[in-house]
Amino acid sequence: MKDKSTQLIHHGYQAPAGFAAPAPAVHKASTVFFNSCRELRERDWLDKQAYTYGLHGTPTSFELEARIAALEGAKHALLLPSGLAAIALVNQALLRQGDRVLLPDNVYGPSRAMARHELQAWGIGHAFYDPMAPEQLALTPDVTLVWLEAAGSVTLEFPDLPALIQRIRAQAPQALIALDNTWGAGLAFDAFALGVDVTIHALTKYPSGGGDVLMGSVACRDAKLYERLALCHSRLGLGVGMNDCELVLRNLPSLPLRYAAQDQAARRIAQWAQAQPWAVEVLHPALPTSPSHKAWSALCTQAAGLVGIRLPEDTTRETVEAWVDGLRLFRIGWSWGGPISLAVPYHLDALRSLPSSPKGWMVRLAIGLESADDLIDDLTRSAASVFAGR
Ligand SMILES: *Cc1c(COP(=O)(O)O)cnc(C)c1O
Repeated sequence: MKDKSTQLIHHGYQAPAGFAAPAPAVHKASTVFFNSCRELRERDWLDKQAYTYGLHGTPTSFELEARIAALEGAKHALLLPSGLAAIALVNQALLRQGDRVLLPDNVYGPSRAMARHELQAWGIGHAFYDPMAPEQLALTPDVTLVWLEAAGSVTLEFPDLPALIQRIRAQAPQALIALDNTWGAGLAFDAFALGVDVTIHALTKYPSGGGDVLMGSVACRDAKLYERLALCHSRLGLGVGMNDCELVLRNLPSLPLRYAAQDQAARRIAQWAQAQPWAVEVLHPALPTSPSHKAWSALCTQAAGLVGIRLPEDTTRETVEAWVDGLRLFRIGWSWGGPISLAVPYHLDALRSLPSSPKGWMVRLAIGLESADDLIDDLTRSAASVFAGR
């Protein structure tokens, strides 16, 4: 080996196996070496004891998969480039032409769009149900998948999950139950103990915690179901970057502390909002006045840091936007779970499919890690100039 170019590539250094430190190493690879052709031939990528190709994972992503499976109370987890991609994987792996999927009317918006466009185009039907009326849930024999979300997106209704699950099992034993567990984050309640088959989690939110990573996970307990999901995951060529895995691994240890802090701050802000004459309804399941309070408190003592504030139906867009534009600490933006508080106005008339849904304008607040007093001052100051006289 005389040539520098060869020496620069085939160097002899090997990281010591005994190196121990708080952070797991970041192993990046597209190519993974085998010691012989026989080893290459015999290696099975589904076997988590060995490595085959970067897309199927490295020690870094295997580590994150294992930790997410533990967080979710599952046995197996797969990582995807976004929370939405995790929803897509569940739909694509488990639904076939002629099947029907049921979605709660307060489902994550892009999931609704996926059902209306992609699933529809593949000959997969869908229908929306009222998650707050489990007694009305009616499953036809073509239903093979039912999505649950607790609390629901934007309007934060917390459904009676045991009642919904019991009704689904009684009416359609063939149907699988999937839960979007992003709000509960694996902390607020134990989804698998309730009997769901599969969960997805937008790791983009709490597990990332920084507002700087997009990632999703799919988790389950059943080995057969895992194989169906993992095979589809692999055939579709879905993978994640190891630097992103590193960021999530780094922030996982502080997840329970951040969740609890944002929960406490959000409850203070929800109570403040309830005292405002211009707020017609404050959407937060921990409020004793919330229609969700009973179902939430039966399962949870914690809630995510989200609060909805519904405004009178005659409120104009100009007024809502002036209030949100006037905020200084709250930034305007999607997502949640990061250090900076966020606000987004929503017009409810366009958001839901069922006639019973609420109308008018609301603002969704995602509470960050700032002091709750400072956030309340910010909300109060902007509201004083906009809602004067209400
Ligand atoms: C954000 C979110 C998702 C999607 O996550 P992305 O990583 O942004 O694609 C899915 N479900 C819920 C409930 C979410 O809040």
